[in-house]
Amino acid sequence: GQCITHCPTGALRERDDTAKAYSALGAEGRLTVVQIAPAVRAAWGEAFGMPTGRATVGQLVAALRSLGADYVFDTTFSADLTIMEEGTELLQRLNAGDLKDQPMFTSCCPGWVRFLKSQYPEMTGRLSTAKSPQQMFGAVAKSWLAHRLGIEPENVYSISIMPCIAKKAERELPGMQSAGAGSDVDLVLTTRELARIVRAEHIDVEQLADSPFDDPLGNGSGAGVIFGATGGVMEAALRSAYFLTTGENPSADAFCEVRAAENESRPWREAAFDLAGTTIHCAVASGLANARHLIRAIKRREVHYEFVEIMACPGGCAGGGGQPVDGSDREKAASRGGVLFSLDEKAELRFSHENPAVKALYNEYLSSPCSERAEELLHCDHFAWQMPQTGIHV
Ligand code: SF4
Repeated sequence: GQCITHCPTGALRERDDTAKAYSALGAEGRLTVVQIAPAVRAAWGEAFGMPTGRATVGQLVAALRSLGADYVFDTTFSADLTIMEEGTELLQRLNAGDLKDQPMFTSCCPGWVRFLKSQYPEMTGRLSTAKSPQQMFGAVAKSWLAHRLGIEPENVYSISIMPCIAKKAERELPGMQSAGAGSDVDLVLTTRELARIVRAEHIDVEQLADSPFDDPLGNGSGAGVIFGATGGVMEAALRSAYFLTTGENPSADAFCEVRAAENESRPWREAAFDLAGTTIHCAVASGLANARHLIRAIKRREVHYEFVEIMACPGGCAGGGGQPVDGSDREKAASRGGVLFSLDEKAELRFSHENPAVKALYNEYLSSPCSERAEELLHCDHFAWQMPQTGIHV
């Protein structure tokens, strides 16, 4: 059996999956499909003594190809998909009057989901039912992608490279086998584990030439890239929620206020935006101590928001527990976040709803966001599993 600890981010049960990765990447008869999370690209070169952001994601793709990956894709694709599902859910809940008292919380951070369910289980229903980008990717890889490639879903082995230790436990949760071919994600490697493999294989990172992602799940927008930094999910969601309500794109930077640093009197950031005549009040917090302050204020009705983004790690996934460490984590999280926001600024595509691969997925397979098939593959039931109650809140 597995040891369940009370550590909300799962950091106390870090395990090393590099041996499994070696056997999967070398296996015959199976297709290894790798996804790379947004935050990994900003940090992975640090493990080789390079400054933050120097090693490119194209070099990481090249490294994975030389390690034997059959396809290398981008989690920013499924971050865009998450925005379509979660943004649609937000508007549905808003229109149904469900957000009058309490907000909808983002659900893409498993450290946060575990924290909420153990400390404030009565608020479980406030979480968006949208799965995280990692899990949406796995479900799509073993359904639509397998179908397009003409192979059996059972023959797809899906590996994710994550800045996060809690993602290892997330892939094992009930409901994360929705494509019907075992776990949607078979193996999770942290940025540190991947760096160990690259080093062990004597790959010279500085000398690697950029390699592009594969199609179609290698397409992501700048909105998908900023998922890796605190405030990024909120900003990406608002860009598309604006489009979904008005039929027009906002300026891509219209919602960048949610990126601003926390002010000293309040451990979270807030902003209000107008979406076709409806005001959406938003809040963003990172770090679980800050999240607790925010939840207490919501419960005491001192504040009211319709939409709240919470990430367990300070600075978001850029500062994730699986990233390279050197003792200056806080500053590193901020500078890695800066790398992600500048990648977004330079991106040709800055809106999740414009991602051509996401559009093709809906046209060919899911029909529309929150359709029956989308609900089956891309959403989860947070009540399907319980956390041990610690009973120390408020
Ligand atoms: Fe994982 Fe931390 Fe990102 Fe949450 S914020 S998904 S715990 S890396």
